[in-house]
Amino acid sequence: MKYTYLTVDVEEWYDLEYLKKYDADKSVEVIPEIIDFLDLLDEFQIKATFFVLANVVERNDDIIQEIARRNHSIGCHGYDHELLYKKNPDEFQTEVLKAKEIIQNCIKCDVEGYRSACFSMERDKLDAISKVGYAYDSSYIKFEQNQLYRNLDINGFESVDDLVYKNGDFFEYEIPTLKIGKYNLPISGGGYLRLLPFWTLHILLSMYAKQKNNFLLYIHPFELTKTKLPFSSEIGWKDNFRVSVGRKRNLKKIRKVIMLLQSMGTEFCTLGQQQEVGENNEKSIGYRQ
Ligand SMILES: [Zn+2]
Repeated sequence: MKYTYLTVDVEEWYDLEYLKKYDADKSVEVIPEIIDFLDLLDEFQIKATFFVLANVVERNDDIIQEIARRNHSIGCHGYDHELLYKKNPDEFQTEVLKAKEIIQNCIKCDVEGYRSACFSMERDKLDAISKVGYAYDSSYIKFEQNQLYRNLDINGFESVDDLVYKNGDFFEYEIPTLKIGKYNLPISGGGYLRLLPFWTLHILLSMYAKQKNNFLLYIHPFELTKTKLPFSSEIGWKDNFRVSVGRKRNLKKIRKVIMLLQSMGTEFCTLGQQQEVGENNEKSIGYRQ
């Protein structure tokens, strides 16, 4: 494998779509605990891409500034965590611009990347974020079995590398899936990463490496801490399982996955690095060293 993009969607545990139907005790927050994960990245000297919800910045600006201070790349995960196809296109355009400005004001640096809540991106919304000044998006996933995700139309984009597509100056990064027969298996993060034992991930990643050069991981702050979350007593067993499975040992598992990926010869890099090289040489699709 050539490059791995490690990405974090910076949102609270109660932003999860399947927990929204329950009353949440919002006094327990997991974002402040992300510091342990930043230390882990420092230990491996890895830079990651953090997609931040703008409403998280309003409560935890110090944590977002610390992520930026450690030279990680910061993108936008929207203002709130509502699904994009529930938003009106005009309101969406105003909102993504406002979210970009809130994050930029916090870190005093340009925000170029976007990832939609639950990969709910649609083509008209993709065109809108490009129009308001974002340089790339990472919401494209080929996994139709999950009903929340959208089958994003990327017509007009050309493939420039595994998982990387380009349309004019705008880039789209795909969330990888493993192709087995006619099925695409999600192996790149979230609940799937927590659920699968490490030995299974090892086999699946070895199979994946035969199909593609680049890989992308996505994780959430609540998956990086053992903090007990104050679920509503109403929570159903399925939702409880979904949010809780594998949380306790996940940070240890992520450490092992990083070591495994490094042993497979991949280099960790942040999203959006192609643009910086492209600015110096329009024809080149390379990476900053
Ligand atoms: Zn999210």
